[in-house]
Amino acid sequence: MSDSKPAAKLTPMMEQYFEVKRGLPDGTLLLFRLGDFFELFYEDAVIASRLLGLTLTKRQDYPMAGLPYHAADSYITKLLAAGRKVALCDQSGPVQPGKLVKRALTRILTPGTTLAASQLDANRNHYLCALSHDKRGLHAAWLDLSTGEFRIASDTQIESLLPVLTALSPAELVLAEGIFSKWEAESQAHHDAGHADLRSLYHFCADHTRSEIPNYHFEPRAGAKTVMDTLGVLNLEGFGISPEHSALGPAGALLYYATETLRARPENLRTLKEYRSSGTLLLDPATLRNLEIFSSSRGTREGSLLDAINRTRSATGARLLERWLSAPTLELHEIHRRQVLVGEFAAQPSRLSALQDSLVQVRDIPRILGRLQNRLRNPRELAGIRDTLAQFPKIRAVLADWNSPSANSSSPEPKRLAAEYADRIAALPDLLALLSRALADELPGDVADGGMIRPGHDAELDRLRSLTTNNKTWLSALETTEQQRTGIKSLKVKFSNNFGYFIEVTKANLHLVPTDYIRRQTTVGGERYVTEKLREKEKEIFTAEERALAREQDLFHALVSSVLAEADALSRTADALAELDVLAGWAALAREWDYTRPTVDDSDQLLIEEGRHPVVEQMLKSPQAAASASASSSAAFVPNDTELCASGAQLALITGPNMAGKSTYIRQVALIALLGHIGCWVPAKSCRIGLIDRIFSRVGASDDLARGNSTFMVEMNETANILNNATRRSLIILDEIGRGTSTYDGLSIAWAVVEHLHSDPQAGPRTLFATHYQELTQLEKHLPRLRNLSVTVKEWNDEIVFVRRVQPGAADRSYGIQVARLAGLPLSVIDRAKEILSRLESDEAVVALPATTSAAAPHPAPSSPEPKLPPKPKKKLTVEPIDDPQLSLF
Ligand code: ADP
Repeated sequence: MSDSKPAAKLTPMMEQYFEVKRGLPDGTLLLFRLGDFFELFYEDAVIASRLLGLTLTKRQDYPMAGLPYHAADSYITKLLAAGRKVALCDQSGPVQPGKLVKRALTRILTPGTTLAASQLDANRNHYLCALSHDKRGLHAAWLDLSTGEFRIASDTQIESLLPVLTALSPAELVLAEGIFSKWEAESQAHHDAGHADLRSLYHFCADHTRSEIPNYHFEPRAGAKTVMDTLGVLNLEGFGISPEHSALGPAGALLYYATETLRARPENLRTLKEYRSSGTLLLDPATLRNLEIFSSSRGTREGSLLDAINRTRSATGARLLERWLSAPTLELHEIHRRQVLVGEFAAQPSRLSALQDSLVQVRDIPRILGRLQNRLRNPRELAGIRDTLAQFPKIRAVLADWNSPSANSSSPEPKRLAAEYADRIAALPDLLALLSRALADELPGDVADGGMIRPGHDAELDRLRSLTTNNKTWLSALETTEQQRTGIKSLKVKFSNNFGYFIEVTKANLHLVPTDYIRRQTTVGGERYVTEKLREKEKEIFTAEERALAREQDLFHALVSSVLAEADALSRTADALAELDVLAGWAALAREWDYTRPTVDDSDQLLIEEGRHPVVEQMLKSPQAAASASASSSAAFVPNDTELCASGAQLALITGPNMAGKSTYIRQVALIALLGHIGCWVPAKSCRIGLIDRIFSRVGASDDLARGNSTFMVEMNETANILNNATRRSLIILDEIGRGTSTYDGLSIAWAVVEHLHSDPQAGPRTLFATHYQELTQLEKHLPRLRNLSVTVKEWNDEIVFVRRVQPGAADRSYGIQVARLAGLPLSVIDRAKEILSRLESDEAVVALPATTSAAAPHPAPSSPEPKLPPKPKKKLTVEPIDDPQLSLF
């Protein structure tokens, strides 16, 4: 504990505070409930006031800061976002005049274990993940406490499991004490390729909020036991998991950590599933970033693939979409099932929109159940269940209807997969009736406030409530009757927390006080009294209120139990609804953007006819883009074909000027392939995709510079990873390899990489390689599975017009100077560049201009770190980068 306990004698309340504080892990901020406030003391107060902008006050001589209880959620959210842990110490006994209230630690909130709706992104899963690494490989367990999803995975290769964990984007990592600094030291000590895996692991951990717990919690055997106890099973056979599984260590550590923070065992975990990387298409971290799968290069969700294909109407649907996208499946049966459903939904637009309208009303059942099961019981959540249940019959009806022929078709139709979903939606009419009858119209946010049960639901509650009301009526009449009886006009009946109800008489009237008044307290202005009758009534009010509240809470908990009794049916229904939501959304997407169903099989092909980039296409047509496009420039996306085959046209080399559309084209192919594996339809006229085990990409400069790696080093690391791990079933997209070094070096590396990818005599990974190096196009003559493609441009009066068409054959020129002109380089620079180029092309020497001339025009800084000359087209390469424009080049 970092706070030093003051020497002076503590008040009983502060004794209580320190007792709780002592039991907390270091660095945890303790929020201590005092009436309507949560207070922080000592160092915690200083930290919280800084992070939350709270006023720092002093109590006796120690710092203190408070935040209102009812607004606590938003403050806690901020503390968690700042990576802090927060412990809540709440009042656990009744507030009684003059007595110290009982308090207890209710839970510890950490970034990965919070359950409150306000601290979770409804559309994203929220994982807590534990890791261990030994000579058998990397072992991981992850858990979304808010929904009960719980998984383990183990892989001998770090590189095969890490992509999966990156895609999960965990909110918090749990590691064994000291392990992170060990990985850090090892990855910094060794820069060789043999330690590349460990470096990635270290970087992954460095990027996330970490919590460390003692190593022994990671022991696999003990872990297996913890898992079985928590799931309430006698062995793990039912889950198909061996009791020796190495990832049971991290699984046990996770459950220990979750139990510590919840102050109780998590109650909403039902199953443990093993994740096997062999069943999914792997997307390594660089590819997730480069292809902007979950967020755009600017870090926003807008502009990502996820955003472009998300047409879900419910939070559960949005989260399932994210899971499918982070682990695309290699099971053809499952892919086909999803594709068929998308087709069925798309074929019946009016039913589709009825279905989607109902899905909007569906609340977040898994998270509501998670909170109810884990003692976070907000009465409004039951209303969420009630309103969702009300949608079930409508959804069942519209699904069952899918079997009947659609309006515009007279032929008998086969049984629809969509109709089968009707049986997966639970009916639960009794639960719906109970909740509708019992819950009040306006619900409080806290069970302690009462008022959640509707009058008429329970006779006893109604009786207790009327007692309180009657007594209160008596009280409000008391002031008038006593004024009349005593003749004291200013007499008041009041209430205070310390004294309860009392009669107040001012000094001037004390002589009129009747003998049956019992004096309780003297104040500046007068005296406070009670009477026997008042005491009696007060007691009746207190007891009636207390009993009414207790009764109400019992009734509420009975309702919660009724809901939890159906937890399994509700969860299964929620799963089915989430799937429906994603698939119905894709159907809407397919209609909106004219997608087609691709043929996905186990061939080695990747054929796309008139493919489009799913994100760029939507951006070009967005209202903003349409407004900014001039009348002449058509905003439509230009579709392009692709033909790749591992044993045929394996490697496509794409040349063409900058800005022509090379990057867009190669990314579009990767994205279409990816969409095929999640069961979504694709933006193309027709498409055939042979299963892909991994998509690799090496695209553009990466943001790794912050980690002290040069652009070139990052590029080479990524390339090494590709060459070492790609299989015949992989898809690779490469954009401009070798840019971070001199032209000679770069070209040589790019050349050797192409040869390597083509080195298997039978077949190789399907590859798209966009490059500046015209020289590479000569390889087509030597490598039978390489095809040259180019993105065409049209020339018009020394200017170029982009047509965005990809066609067979190499580009004849690079048009770099024309593009530079479009970018607004000064004309003097453009003219001079043309002159240099023509000299280079005719093998003449280029002589630097005298300094005065070059200084006249605004040139780029002469000592820019990576000056580049356009590589000389067609001829033998003779260009070296220039560092000093004053030197003669050759
Ligand atoms: P390159 O990689 O050849 O430098 P990019 O792929 O970055 O070129 O494309 C440049 C711009 O052209 C992009 O901003 C994109 O919006 C637009 N673009 C690319 N391909 C197409 C296409 N097929 N149809 C319409 N616009 C496109």
